[in-house]
Amino acid sequence: MIARVRGRLLEWYERSRRDLPWRRSRDPYAIWVSEIMLQQTRVAVVVERYLAFMARFPTLLSLAQAPEQEVLALWSGLGYYRRARMLHKAAQFVAEHYGGNLPKTAEELRSLPGIGAYTAAAIASIAYGERVAVVDGNVERVLCRLEGWKAGSRAGGGAQVRRKIEKLAAELVSPERPGDSNQALMELGATLCSPRNPQCLVCPVATDCKTQGEHQTAPRPPMICREAAHALSVRSRKKAGQVRSEVLLEQRPASLTVMPGLWELPMLREAVVPEKDMCLTVRHAIMQVNYRVRIRAVSEGDIDAVTIPGGERRWVPLGEAAGMALTGLTRKVLGRLHLMTAEPPDASSFS
Ligand code: SF4
Repeated sequence: MIARVRGRLLEWYERSRRDLPWRRSRDPYAIWVSEIMLQQTRVAVVVERYLAFMARFPTLLSLAQAPEQEVLALWSGLGYYRRARMLHKAAQFVAEHYGGNLPKTAEELRSLPGIGAYTAAAIASIAYGERVAVVDGNVERVLCRLEGWKAGSRAGGGAQVRRKIEKLAAELVSPERPGDSNQALMELGATLCSPRNPQCLVCPVATDCKTQGEHQTAPRPPMICREAAHALSVRSRKKAGQVRSEVLLEQRPASLTVMPGLWELPMLREAVVPEKDMCLTVRHAIMQVNYRVRIRAVSEGDIDAVTIPGGERRWVPLGEAAGMALTGLTRKVLGRLHLMTAEPPDASSFS
């Protein structure tokens, strides 16, 4: 059964794999960047950001030498900025201790700061051809369905199911094409064997699957709803005979925000915004929290009275905001109000 499933997966992957930019490269650094970006972010969102990131930081050394603010700006739109900071720090570590070359085995890769078992296995198998299994959430789901093991392995079946998943994943890795084998299984989980509606009728391993869509997937944890409110303050200044508009942005310290280093609109003291000052309401999700965010127009003179102090504030020309390391919410708000493009900066913004 193992050889049959492995062969069918590889055949299917050869035929049906999506043409994604990181699949055109065997460069371990490029694979590393893509794997970090793909954690918790959809492929469709990652593609464009990946291309801009790699255009600006084509090598590990170029990333290591960049200021953190620039790395965060290029990460804009991907969320979970901690990943960008860890990637940057790990690149600096590799530059300093390994001359800019990533180690070649999963074991050595795992010893680097910021590289866990999953990422190490992905780099080692795809870039260096090491026969080591990659087990992410998609792979777990596919293997649980194939074998009829309890869904949500860690919660439902605990360590025992986890060990069975790892053993089966390791057996399914092709000795000749470990990178393709791993990617085939991940691709199946990301496309046909999706959490809600698995497409078993066209699945290449359906005849060996013990559940064929009848498998229960653990329900998603419910979203938490919260309210938030920010101030939008825009002023005009005359400089060299030209009038330019500036927006007030703030960078809050780590003690006051979960996104240190990023620029955002100052936070209001009160979540309730007078109707006459309301300029926008948006919904914004961060992890399991769904925020309803009110944006209040505030004049320059009133800003200190209505906002929470604590961060560094700066008046930023509207034309320059897009190139800064903004929070996703700030980028969304400025984009919706046509105060800047909603798109993240491209590499040329920094050249
Ligand atoms: S047959 Fe259905 S449930 Fe089984 S692996 Fe294929 S898509 Fe998933």
